[in-house]
Amino acid sequence: MNAPIPVHVLPTFEPRPVPAAMLEALRQHFGTRCSTALAVREQHGRDESPFDVPPPEAVVYAESTEDVAFIVKLADEHAVPVIPFGVGSSLEGHLLAVQGGVSIDLSRMNAIVRVNPEDLTVTVQPGVTRNQLNREIKDAGLFFPIDPGADASIGGMSATRASGTNAVRYGTMRDNVLALTVVTAKGEVIHTGTRARKSSAGYDLTRLFVGSEGTLGVMTEITLKLYPLPEAVSAAVCHFPDVGSAVKTTIQVIQMGVPIARCELLDTHAVRAVNAHDKLSLREAPMLLMEFHGSPASVAEQAATVQEIASEFGGEDFQWATTPEERTRLWTARHRAYFAGLQMKPGCRTVTTDTCVPISRLADCVTQALAEAEAAGIQHYLVGHVGDGNFHVAYLIDPNNDAERDTAERLNKTLVERALSMQGTCTGEHGIGLHKQGFLIDEAGAGAVAMMRTLKRALDPKNIMNPGKIFAL
Ligand SMILES: Cc1cc2nc3c(=O)[nH]c(=O)nc-3n(C[C@H](O)[C@H](O)[C@H](O)COP(=O)(O)OP(=O)(O)OC[C@H]3O[C@@H](n4cnc5c(N)ncnc54)[C@H](O)[C@@H]3O)c2cc1C
Repeated sequence: MNAPIPVHVLPTFEPRPVPAAMLEALRQHFGTRCSTALAVREQHGRDESPFDVPPPEAVVYAESTEDVAFIVKLADEHAVPVIPFGVGSSLEGHLLAVQGGVSIDLSRMNAIVRVNPEDLTVTVQPGVTRNQLNREIKDAGLFFPIDPGADASIGGMSATRASGTNAVRYGTMRDNVLALTVVTAKGEVIHTGTRARKSSAGYDLTRLFVGSEGTLGVMTEITLKLYPLPEAVSAAVCHFPDVGSAVKTTIQVIQMGVPIARCELLDTHAVRAVNAHDKLSLREAPMLLMEFHGSPASVAEQAATVQEIASEFGGEDFQWATTPEERTRLWTARHRAYFAGLQMKPGCRTVTTDTCVPISRLADCVTQALAEAEAAGIQHYLVGHVGDGNFHVAYLIDPNNDAERDTAERLNKTLVERALSMQGTCTGEHGIGLHKQGFLIDEAGAGAVAMMRTLKRALDPKNIMNPGKIFAL
């Protein structure tokens, strides 16, 4: 048996107070758009992670790139931390003001700057949310596929290199951001990339900022790839005797090259939770929720292939959801699984794992993780973007119960170690934030982390951009 390890103890940092002169300058410039009200600061000083630290000293609502540049220049002058804020749905302590400072709320920068349907691109401000974007481009026959469960901002999604249920077919933010406008740690404005689909021009700064978790600069405009709405869409659920059979089905579907658009696993606990939360009557057994995009003929062909594979692994009760209403109902329930899970244990918080492994190792990784959670007796459920090899075990913990927190962290650590031994990653899509810093060095190695630190020091010499995240300097 593993000895308990206090891995939930977060790194500690010295607070860096905001000087009165800086606060005064912010108040003068922004008026009521600069708030020091406790409720506002608290709302910006936490995310969906189970950690609590004191909030930032002030929150400023930016409305333009110039606003952001003004705040960052002041922060640079006074060596004060700034933390970009999208909608606050991140899960790893990304937004916590561990060194104090000023939160830059980008939600009011929510304009669609330019849609170019003929090129399948769009440029947006960072506070545009994924649902807002999809509503606004739908009439042009287009959609943006990246869909973290929350209605996250495009800025936050770019900063965490997010993905979601469609990544198996359409890739992640890494694959879908073409260009950025960024306010650097010096308060200068730079542009990375163009609207061209590809480029060999110098270092790829776009991909450096995508996934940088607010630690290198603030993205104030983002150019994205768009996709035509598929001609035909069909969704299906299929139940399995056990989780392993559902995963083996997925592995074979991917290995056969079926261009499935979504392939999500829910274990029995997760199905029970979404049934209760969304008033559904899904059979309470491990389930794959799938979607197929294409022409009517190709959707029918993909679905027939998957149905055949599933039946080889004991999959039954294939049920089709062909109307948009039925599909929306199922996918809404899937997207709300996190909140459904929270309702299973009143007052709980969630420690969520995010490992991703090469697809051939997924069945072993998932079944061992679940066996360990059952053996530990901790309340949990599993959802997974299994088509990508990515899954989340959510351990439901009483935040005041250290023993439960230790158990969740120990299980997470064991799972990450296994994923790394399988040449996978500790985080497929949520990012490192505060919580996964200990795993970064194990995964990337000392040399790579030293290079990341060198980049951080070069681009942010005063360590003002969301300091203490990804790694401590
Ligand atoms: C119910 C639920 C389901 C989720 N499902 C998924 C999922 O399937 N896939 C997935 O990838 N994630 C998922 N997440 C996590 C979360 O939604 C993503 O991490 C999302 O990308 C965060 O976006 P946000 O707007 O909330 O960013 P925030 O939480 O506000 O910020 C996240 C990070 O980005 C930085 N940041 C924000 N805006 C900018 C900017 N303009 N410039 C620079 N840095 C910036 C912040 O400083 C912070 O470090 C889920 C979360 C919840 C609560």
